[in-house]
Amino acid sequence: MDKIFETPITYLKGVGPHKADLLTKEFGIRTYADLLQHFPFRYVDKSKVYKISQVNTDASYFLLKGKITDLKVVGEKRAKYISATLVDESGSIQLLWFRGLQWIKKRFEPGKEYLIFGKPSVYKNHFNLVHPEVEDVKPESPETLSNPLEGIYHSTEKLKAAGMGSRGIARLMRTLLSTIQSHITENLPDYMMQCHGLISHKQALISIHFPKKPEEIKPAIYRLKFEELFFLQMELLLQKKILQNKTEGHIFEKVGPLFNTFFHNYLPFELTEAQKRVTREIRADLRSGKQMNRLLQGDVGSGKTLVALLGILIAIDNGFQTTFMAPTEILATQHYNTLKKMLDGMPIEIELLTGSTRKPKRKQIHEKLLSGQLQILVGTHALIEDTVKFKNLGFAVIDEQHRFGVAQRAKLWKKNSIPPHVLVMTATPIPRTLAMTLYGNLDVSIIDELPPGRKPVKTIHFFESKRLRVLGFIREQIKIGRQVYVVYPLIKESEKMDLKNLMDGYENMLRDFPEPQYMVSVVHGRMKPEDKAYEMKRFADGITNILVATTVIEVGVDVPNASIMVIENAERFGLSQLHQLRGRVGRGADQLWCILMSGNKLSNEGRKRLEIMVSTNDGFEIAEADLKLRGPGDMQGTQQSGMLDFHLANLAKDGDLIAKTRKIATDILHDDPRLQKEENQPLNREIRRRFKDKTLWARIS
Ligand code: ADP
Ligand code: MG
Repeated sequence: MDKIFETPITYLKGVGPHKADLLTKEFGIRTYADLLQHFPFRYVDKSKVYKISQVNTDASYFLLKGKITDLKVVGEKRAKYISATLVDESGSIQLLWFRGLQWIKKRFEPGKEYLIFGKPSVYKNHFNLVHPEVEDVKPESPETLSNPLEGIYHSTEKLKAAGMGSRGIARLMRTLLSTIQSHITENLPDYMMQCHGLISHKQALISIHFPKKPEEIKPAIYRLKFEELFFLQMELLLQKKILQNKTEGHIFEKVGPLFNTFFHNYLPFELTEAQKRVTREIRADLRSGKQMNRLLQGDVGSGKTLVALLGILIAIDNGFQTTFMAPTEILATQHYNTLKKMLDGMPIEIELLTGSTRKPKRKQIHEKLLSGQLQILVGTHALIEDTVKFKNLGFAVIDEQHRFGVAQRAKLWKKNSIPPHVLVMTATPIPRTLAMTLYGNLDVSIIDELPPGRKPVKTIHFFESKRLRVLGFIREQIKIGRQVYVVYPLIKESEKMDLKNLMDGYENMLRDFPEPQYMVSVVHGRMKPEDKAYEMKRFADGITNILVATTVIEVGVDVPNASIMVIENAERFGLSQLHQLRGRVGRGADQLWCILMSGNKLSNEGRKRLEIMVSTNDGFEIAEADLKLRGPGDMQGTQQSGMLDFHLANLAKDGDLIAKTRKIATDILHDDPRLQKEENQPLNREIRRRFKDKTLWARIS
């Protein structure tokens, strides 16, 4: 594309330095190209003429046709205004002007018909139109205005004050389009436009801003949305390729004695097909000579940790060190214990490093890391601190990706001259379409199968009024030896209130389940770590029957015997959080229960969420529903990405188009990896232009 699009907006006729400054501050509009992408968010249709008797306040605007009578200047000096009456065969309505009086006085000829467009307001029980638009009736199309569709643009109070309300922006847009129109070139190949029924880039830009007919709008939006998503996918795929080509990785040639011993003698069960598939994918990466950057998705309990351990063993077999990073101390400790138990009896050194690791221990760990003696270091982000140095780190597992920033991942990379292979695990299923976009530059593996024999959790929703029944049910379950989680939401802004809720709930529980027959524990974020650990342990050891807790147990300890999870104020949790919590009920029982308690009154969205939870156990289905309900902005992990700032596309609604454009981009790059073919030259040019890091392209070609 032409340089003209990079022209600073201040050079556009009608935009001075002041307006340019405002456009930049309010909307980030700096160049012609930026302004061009400020699309209308809706259109006012002025194509239908109404009778004056039909005017009401239901619709915001009306187009009327009639003659002007009784035009007069009212009032004195500065308070002067013009009043006129518009008459058609159905009735009459008052028109008012407070500005431009000289011009209005001469605007109308007696006895002639005019088209009048305006927003009705009510004054003393009568409708009137203030500052309506006026147009002569054209003999060739007596029922329409010359521009019957008006695009409405987002504006702000500051922009409005500077004459850049929606109308003002539209005026600038007209100037802009006439300035640059001849420079707009096509950026998609002919064959793509034909195959996918797309109008031209230029036509789309003209129609989206100034459609002549309502039917022009849809194809224009589709074309521009298509282009937006298609080029994003192209960029992501190219980035991924560059990453792979660029970054040298350790080659783990062999599957050695540790892996084999573990696999044949220690693994107490068969791998699921999904685990086998993903393990193969990881092994292929580890042999490839390129650094692995793989996202491993799978529901809670699908066996990700085990797959990660297999990767770790391969790395150790090849003489490398490994690390396993978790977002919280509780979780790190649990991973450490799990791994230690699974590896019990094998000649492998494993240690835990967290914020609360004592100095002497810390020192010992540092030494063992430097000498290469320590093979697995489990920990929190304490282990990416600069003081933690490895002899040769080769493989890093990161659990619960969304809690770690990209910067932290980059720190891990620097722990060895050749960066370690990185396996990122998340139990928050991300909808396919979102994953394609957020993690479009990572490889993705999915475990979509639970180990055999797993009982699905039965989920029931109860209103507060049914609490007695729920208590009775809990009593029955305790009688047959089960344990119960009771979880309260804890949301930062209202922490105090939430804590009170929790403590009230705890006290109620103590009353309903009195000692010595029952034992109740409580755990929340305000407690000291050692008190927390103590209470958790009493529950894990089966001493207490009920654990009342905040979401600290969300990624917390597995207690196989805890078969019921009661979630209080369930309507206040997000879907993915509810799903994560539900995944925490133990595996030891024949039947697992999740009870969602809610207030008697529910918002529409709250009710939908609970319905979805009751209807499915499938994490991906829930994630899709979550995306639709809340939009991508609120999804975990998306906030800091900046990748979701689309002009037109909407991740929640355009899933199909995302998948489609991903496929098209994949096919094109498969067929013509460097975009050298004649027919792909428009793509080549557009990609070059879009890549902000200009050297990136040089690395592909
Ligand atoms: P995730 O990390 O995905 O939540 P884990 O790896 O912690 O899941 O596995 C959950 C539980 O299932 C663990 O107790 C684990 O030992 C067990 N498990 C994992 N894979 C299998 C399998 N193939 N068959 C039976 N049990 C399995
Ligand atoms: Mg896990």
